[in-house]
Amino acid sequence: MAFFIHTIMKRTKIKELIATEPSGQEVTVKGWVRTFRNNSFIAINDGSTINNIQAVVNFENTDEATLKRITPGACLRVTGSLIASQGKGQKVEIAVKEMEIYGDAESDVTKPNVYPLQPKAHSLEFLREIAHLRFRTNTFGAVFRIRHNLAFAVHQFFHERGFVYMHTPIITASDAEGAGEMFRVTTLDINNPPKTETGEIDFKQDFFGKSTNLTVSGQLEGELAAMAFGDVYTFGPTFRAENSNTTRHLAEFWMIEPEMAFYDLNDNMDLAEELLQYVIKYALEHNREDIEFLSQRLFDEEKQKPQTERSEMTLLEKLQFCIDNKFERVTYTQAIDILRESNHNKKKKFQYLVNEWGTDLQSEHERYLVEKHFKKPVILTDYPKEIKSFYMRQNEDGKTVRAMDILFPGIGEIVGGSQREERLELLETRMKELHLPIEEMYWYLDTRRFGACPHAGFGLGFERLVLFVTGMTNIRDVIAFPRTPKSAEF
Ligand code: ATP
Ligand code: MN
Repeated sequence: MAFFIHTIMKRTKIKELIATEPSGQEVTVKGWVRTFRNNSFIAINDGSTINNIQAVVNFENTDEATLKRITPGACLRVTGSLIASQGKGQKVEIAVKEMEIYGDAESDVTKPNVYPLQPKAHSLEFLREIAHLRFRTNTFGAVFRIRHNLAFAVHQFFHERGFVYMHTPIITASDAEGAGEMFRVTTLDINNPPKTETGEIDFKQDFFGKSTNLTVSGQLEGELAAMAFGDVYTFGPTFRAENSNTTRHLAEFWMIEPEMAFYDLNDNMDLAEELLQYVIKYALEHNREDIEFLSQRLFDEEKQKPQTERSEMTLLEKLQFCIDNKFERVTYTQAIDILRESNHNKKKKFQYLVNEWGTDLQSEHERYLVEKHFKKPVILTDYPKEIKSFYMRQNEDGKTVRAMDILFPGIGEIVGGSQREERLELLETRMKELHLPIEEMYWYLDTRRFGACPHAGFGLGFERLVLFVTGMTNIRDVIAFPRTPKSAEF
């Protein structure tokens, strides 16, 4: 009998319940109220699925005071029998026998502290202001369940292929990564910092005995590990103090950075393409309902727009297309020719016109190539060395490097990578040209001194991947608590 009591009180997740054959069996659900209609029907969500379960209360034998406390946002437990639903829209429902309210949520607008998520449509902008509660909406529930599965799929992908997961440091003394402005880490008194004889701030007295920052990339450390394990990856937070208030940039974002010994640029591109297709497929298989919901949401939103601005494919079709088709591979030089000759350029529709070889591509150019010209993901290779980082392998032409950027529809750059320069002399020469601190970087250059080999790697911005898979359009809506210029709430 003790066993029986235990099982009836055990909570079953809604995801499991709605897939269960109803036979009047006793079940317990714990979750948050979404709606309460006609003093009878409670829609409860527990985050395990986008679907709510309907719990039917018998108001004749439930006291009025309790009924009043069943409001949107309240947390409760219901225990009752699982029966076939009479209503439309759900297969099963719970005929409630017993109910316990864990936490109330005020609905009465004449009172203070009203629960802000009353059942009606809320704008994404409003929800961003209450990011601590927005997980409790259908949209953000879907986004963060997808985000979870994408992260899991990334680890599974690399694990299956024998990669070693490295945790590279978050605090770094090297500012040579050259990927953007950095955030300083210090314990010095900013009102009264110690000075050297020449009047500069004396970082010798700082916590680490030198000037330190938050990392912009784990790549350089990843390369060190690749020279021992062969295949490694990092997956961690990175920080960039770039003041670009765009829908594609965060000051704190997560990056996946594999680094592989004995890989050339082609191997690198193959791996990146395989990874992207693998994780998208994983999400389609494991988050089908969430993606269907977001796809419909996007479709409804786009109906408001003029025909010419609507996407040709739904989100679901776009994801499927991405899995089914090889990415287009073209060189930077070919891309410049395509852009220069395009009607878009001739009719001066680009904000930045494409004239000469050597300039960096703006996101309008990247998106033109992907969305208008090739109509599929594109991998651009062999960029001019002037617009790329010092560690990229130099080509024979003396002008370009073995870089590759993967460009996605609606996103622009999602991956940036390269084959690395493994030849010590060429690397040092390039570093000198760029006035990089060769002495301080001895540890990085040691990989080229001791058992150097051809190797390659890339960085995949995790939030840009989540943007693509969820069809959301602002990067602030795919990370739980976004950090952007002038904003670090929660
Ligand atoms: P962009 O040109 O879009 O600013 P980047 O060239 O500076 O990007 P990399 O240094 O190549 O970016 O970083 C690798 C990947 O990290 C990018 O392809 C992108 O997916 C992601 N990424 C870069 N900066 C940010 C950012 N501020 N917020 C979110 N993701 C980013
Ligand atoms: Mn890049």
